[in-house]
Parts: sequence; structure tokens; C-alpha cells
Amino acid sequence: MSVKNMSFETKSIHAGEPRARYAGSVNIPIFQSSTYEIDKDSQEIGMRYLRLNNTPNHIFLHRKLAALECSEAALVTSSGMSAITTTLNTFLELGDHLLCHKVLYGGTAGYVSKELPKSGVDVDFIDASQPSDWALKIKPNTKVIYIESITNPLMTIPELDEIVRFAKENNLISIVDNTFATPVLYNPIVNGFDIVLHSATKYLNGHSDIVGGAIMGGEEHIYKIKSKLNYLGGSMDPNTCYLLQRGIKTLLLRFNKQSENAKKIAEYLNNHENVIKVNYPGIPSNSEHLRAKKYFGGYGAMLSFELKGGVDYSDEFIGRLKYPLNAASLGGVESLITRPVQTSHSFLNPEERAKAGISDSLIRYSPGIESAADLIDDMDHAF
Ligand SMILES: *Cc1c(COP(=O)(O)O)cnc(C)c1O
Repeated sequence: MSVKNMSFETKSIHAGEPRARYAGSVNIPIFQSSTYEIDKDSQEIGMRYLRLNNTPNHIFLHRKLAALECSEAALVTSSGMSAITTTLNTFLELGDHLLCHKVLYGGTAGYVSKELPKSGVDVDFIDASQPSDWALKIKPNTKVIYIESITNPLMTIPELDEIVRFAKENNLISIVDNTFATPVLYNPIVNGFDIVLHSATKYLNGHSDIVGGAIMGGEEHIYKIKSKLNYLGGSMDPNTCYLLQRGIKTLLLRFNKQSENAKKIAEYLNNHENVIKVNYPGIPSNSEHLRAKKYFGGYGAMLSFELKGGVDYSDEFIGRLKYPLNAASLGGVESLITRPVQTSHSFLNPEERAKAGISDSLIRYSPGIESAADLIDDMDHAF
């Protein structure tokens, strides 16, 4: 079944599903087997083994994910961090130089600044929304440029087309973490990026019940990353593959509803006297508004904000909310709220956080698919 002419909704359901169903099962069964009999008819697969990411659960999921990001190939991993570290390790070695945006997911920021240099990879940080900044930082040994299409937790948006142009001009591999934007808002591959990464833990799966990662790109790049992953061993187990394959089917419905909720909540907060600042690209006065319009045609489902009254008041406010759970992570059907300094960005020390513009009282909100009116009412009571 060719996915070329399918709309996003149809791909979510039909792409990567076996046409002749296994024993007629509408859903792909969970192949709970670590190893498989050698298949004499299938030369291309060779040995099938769970760590080698080539079981039926992997293969069908890879096809669905590649269809969603319009890439030639895809690969799933045991977590988003496994997708990120395996990919960076594939393309960077001793003596290489990496350019990355100065505000990244906390785990990624910690890895590139504390771990990669130990293997002799030199790292410099850029402002991905300021193209004039990049040429100053590039070196003869720069190999990779790494960004996030919407950054966590301030929801900034890079000059995405300029990053692609800069990478091509300088022969860099361009890698983008598309977790917050999702393929619903933005398809990096279509826009010229080499590799797309996802924490599938978040929107792709959408139910806060798995941890997983996904990597999409051209056949050649994915083959290299898969060879590295086979050594590093961060494979996704078949039960998780099943849940992710299922979660993806409702991605568009969930993400659209969550984006609607985020916009309403952001507008409510933006008009509230106790709020200092709202970070949401859908607000016309937000610094990212025009770039969101230019690149996405939408604003995403995540927001963050600062309240008057500092850390104590922020914690009291979170404590008084009835619906959003105070937990790390995001993108689930239930609303989650957190102070990034306590959770996703606790990896960073106070100077690093200050440099990234993340204040201690910043609150990040991931609206679920509840009614926006209920979520806003809840905040009204908490104030
Ligand atoms: C959560 C997250 C990650 C890490 O993913 P895990 O699945 O927790 O390993 C990476 N990037 C972004 C943007 C994230 O939100």
C-alpha cells in the first residue's frame, strides 16, 4: 500500500499495518519472542533477534513512523534519550565538533555538555533563532548541527529554513528533536533536515504509559544509526512497540485538541493580573508568533508561564489545581504540570539555567484532552 497519496489521518491508521493480517487479527499481535527461526525465504532480514530491532513489531512500527515523518526509514529505541545519544554517537567521534541550540531538553543539554566532551567531542552553543550567530561558531571540524523544532521549556522556535541552508552550505548533518512540534505541525525531512528524533514517550504515544524513542531519516543514515544501536542495545520491547503503534493512531485527534486547549489556557493566563509572562507561540505578542506562522501553521500544545509571587506561590498554585498532575513528562491525554527546575531541567546548575533563561518559578503546562473550560475553571480557583 503506497503511503504517498494518503493524508495524515489515513497514514496514522493504515500506514505500516500488514495488509494480510496475522491470523486475521485486526491489530498486530505482540510478538513476545527474543529470537526467531532463520527464515530461508527472507534473505534481506537474516537473523531476527529482538536487540537487532527487526522483529515484526519493529518492522511495522518503523513503516508507520517513516510514513508520518515522510522519511525513507525509521527506527525505534528504548527511550527518547536513547534515540538522541545513539544518533549523536553515530555521527560524532573523537576530534569532531557539534553545534547545538543553547536551550535543549534537560537530558540532552546535560549529555552534550557533560558526557560528549569526555569522548573528545567539542561542543558549542548557538542561538538557533539568530542566523548571524552561527558563522561565528562554526569550525573546520564541525560535523553536526542539533536543534529542537520547539524548545523546552520556553517554546522558542528556531529559524528552521536557515538552519537547513546553513547545514547544507557547510556540509553538516542537521538533526532536529521534533518531540514538541510532532509531525502534525512540522515535517523536518520534507523541509530539508537530515534526521528527526522524537521522545515517543510524549505525543506520539500520548498516554503516559511507555518510554520510547524514534529516529527518522534517509535509508543510509538510519542504517548507520541502527548498526550503532545494535551495539549499544537500546532496543524497544515488543509490548512497547504495540502500545506505540496503537497510540499513534489517535495522534492527530489528540494533538489538535491539546493545541486548542493550550491556546485557550494561554489566552486566559495572558489576561490574568497574577501572571508575569506566558510562553506560547499562539499569542500574537509572543516573540515566536511569526516564526510559528511561517513554519508551522499552528502553535503546538505546550505552554509555560511565570506567576507573581515566586517559587512559593507557584508551588501553592500547582498544589491547589485539581486536574493537572504535578509530574514530569508531557503529551499525555491527561494534563500534566511541573516546574522544570524541579524535573526536566534539574540536570542544569543555577548558572546554566540562568543562561538558558529558565527561572526557578517557571511553570510548564501540558494540557491533556479534558475540556478547556474545566481546566481554566480549575486555574481560576487556584488563583
Ligand atoms: C522527554 C524528552 C526527551 C527525552 O525522552 P525520554 O523518552 O524521556 O528519554 C527528549 N527531548 C524532548 C524534547 C523531550 O521532551
